[in-house]
Amino acid sequence: MPFGNTHNQLKMKYSAEAEYPDLTKHNNHMAKALTPAMYQRLRSKQTPSGFTLDDVIQTGVDNPGHPFIMTVGCVAGDEETYEVFKELLDPVIEDRHGGYKPTDKHKTDLNPANLKGGDDLDPKYVLSSRVRTGRSIRGFCLPPHCSRGERRAIEKLSVEALSALTGDLKGKYYALKNMTEAEQQQLIDDHFLFDKPVSPLLLASGMARDWPDARGIWHNDNKTFLVWVNEEDHLRVISMQKGGNMKEVFTRFCTGLTKIEELFKTKGHEFMWNEHLGYILTCPSNLGTGLRGGVHVKLPNLSKHSKFEEVLKRLRLQKRGTGGVDTAAVGGVFDISNADRLGFSEVELVQVVVDGVRLLVEMEKRLEKKQSIDDLIPAQK
Ligand code: ADP
Ligand code: MG
Repeated sequence: MPFGNTHNQLKMKYSAEAEYPDLTKHNNHMAKALTPAMYQRLRSKQTPSGFTLDDVIQTGVDNPGHPFIMTVGCVAGDEETYEVFKELLDPVIEDRHGGYKPTDKHKTDLNPANLKGGDDLDPKYVLSSRVRTGRSIRGFCLPPHCSRGERRAIEKLSVEALSALTGDLKGKYYALKNMTEAEQQQLIDDHFLFDKPVSPLLLASGMARDWPDARGIWHNDNKTFLVWVNEEDHLRVISMQKGGNMKEVFTRFCTGLTKIEELFKTKGHEFMWNEHLGYILTCPSNLGTGLRGGVHVKLPNLSKHSKFEEVLKRLRLQKRGTGGVDTAAVGGVFDISNADRLGFSEVELVQVVVDGVRLLVEMEKRLEKKQSIDDLIPAQK
């Protein structure tokens, strides 16, 4: 029996029925997929690092639903989680990623030359543009499950690797521990830094343990290229700038990300990846590209239009408030980004954002002039 199994063994004293979580009020992908019979089959399993079924589902048990977005309700503790618990995770992935099948293959395209247009979004409406993804370092447990020592090793390795970036990408690491409260809040208010671990989703998954130990942000001088260390993923890589030049943002994103991957390889570390799931991340919703390309865009008229939600759905876009995932929009400004992550390449997803946002701005301009947008309503993508 591998080390660390004592707690799981203790639970085996009770029947699967006695241990089964109460999911009656739940609206998340995990709760939809899990059945008592599946629970019975999977509950004695664990990954080589000791991540169990109960660890996978805890966040979804403790968080029945989410006011704006249907949540996933489960997390991975290591790369093997997706294999060992595939009976649960395959249907979650299929449901969350538009019918993505266990036999499907994912594709990667980080060549910005393949993006058509994207330098032409009207900055009167598009206030800022951003592309982010996550990366996990193979051989380490993921944030819901890593130990303090592992987390610190990831931080050390990342800071060493990132310190080799040069030119426009040259930057510095700022550990959360060494920042004042005011410095942290300023970075959060300026949209550069992740929020404090207040989200119950983050807390219940175990990702906020030991906060702020070994967490931090690395960024270049003008804060257009940023890397978050040990938040929801080992690494979150972000390219952003004011205005609507998504082409420039995506180009910097691809260049920087490719360099970072090389730097980690030079140090003997690969990112978690496979043909089927693409890049492996903590939350099943981020598998594949892990890419969220988005803009902060002013849509005061369109957002009041009865077809707004439908238009976003048809364009395969999602909306958030400008303060992050569970915030509301202020003054008609929304964070609009791609809804998909898996089964599409990075270029394809950013193209969806560029083309979609261009259309949303065109609609907004029409509505400003009190004109109809009926002829602009797109067909379902
Ligand atoms: P993520 O998907 O990167 O975790 P969140 O919704 O948690 O995104 O937001 C993280 C931070 O990034 C927030 O401060 C948010 O305001 C900021 N942000 C997201 N998109 C943009 C954008 N297009 N322009 C400026 N800031 C953004
Ligand atoms: Mg976030």
